[in-house]
Amino acid sequence: MQVPAQFQYEKATSVAHALSLLGKYGPESRVVAGGHSLIPMMKLRLAQPQALIDINDLTELARISVENGALCIGAMVRHAELLASAVAGEHFPIFHDAEHLIADPVVRNRGTIGGSLCQADPSEDLSAVFAAVRAEAVIEGRDGQRVVPVRELFVGPYETVVGDDEMLIQIRVPIRSSASAYQKVERRAGDWAVAAAGAELRLDGENVAEVGIGITAVGAPRFHAPEAEEFLTGGPATDERFAHAGRIAAEHCNPVPDQRGPAGYKRHLAAALTTRALRKARARWNTEA
Ligand SMILES: Cc1cc2nc3c(=O)[nH]c(=O)nc-3n(C[C@H](O)[C@H](O)[C@H](O)COP(=O)(O)OP(=O)(O)OC[C@H]3O[C@@H](n4cnc5c(N)ncnc54)[C@H](O)[C@@H]3O)c2cc1C
Repeated sequence: MQVPAQFQYEKATSVAHALSLLGKYGPESRVVAGGHSLIPMMKLRLAQPQALIDINDLTELARISVENGALCIGAMVRHAELLASAVAGEHFPIFHDAEHLIADPVVRNRGTIGGSLCQADPSEDLSAVFAAVRAEAVIEGRDGQRVVPVRELFVGPYETVVGDDEMLIQIRVPIRSSASAYQKVERRAGDWAVAAAGAELRLDGENVAEVGIGITAVGAPRFHAPEAEEFLTGGPATDERFAHAGRIAAEHCNPVPDQRGPAGYKRHLAAALTTRALRKARARWNTEA
């Protein structure tokens, strides 16, 4: 049986309390949210925090709301809650597409948005979703809050700009007129992505006025595809150009072969899924227009 190394356990009663506990125990402490990533890593001794700060009582971080024209998703919102959120689905159907495909109901009932982003797993779905919609991350430390574009949140695999003494508090996405979609290939239902891509589009007549593309599991730098976005912006929203954008996105990925498939297959999927996500977003735009 795998058991974690010994650790101190504290239950935070507020964000300020959690931050003060992080300060008290120092860099060897970690907050625990859903625990679906951290606890298995502790059991395998890949993580050995000396103190765990439980933030599950912080109901102020568990809300989805619209404030000042932005959709605000608290760090402690569970996957299942984002999946069920009518307001999130209405403005950003990409969230519903992705959440429907993340893990299984057991993981979705417990795993949190903040935990997913802070884990920064290279195959994580929401990193690509939030990169596609150009979300902002609100990070809090004892000196106050700072706001970082999600596209700048990730430093590398399993590493973010959230400091040892800070917490991710909220994700914000300005609400605007757009359509979005997410496409994923997995080996079986509930599995991590072999590859996945998301797109958000705003059209001006036949042309692409704005576009965001997020990609995961294929080594896309910081989970997005700026070269493909640049190619598409201002030009006609045609199938041919979407396919070319998919190829551009795939060229800038760096997939590694593993049990989910060879690198060439994953690169092929990156192109195909980017193209499909763009097409689906366009179809939604045309339906709503
Ligand atoms: C069987 C299984 C299948 C899965 N399939 C998928 C999948 O298909 N797609 C996918 O994207 N994910 C998948 N996951 C991952 C799952 O979504 C994440 O494990 C989970 O949501 C992470 O969130 P958590 O709340 O459990 O984080 P935790 O395990 O509690 O924390 C993860 C890390 O984030 C840190 N952290 C947590 N919250 C904060 C915060 N607010 N501020 C700062 N740091 C924080 C913790 O200290 C820890 O380092 C799967 C997981 C499992 C177990």
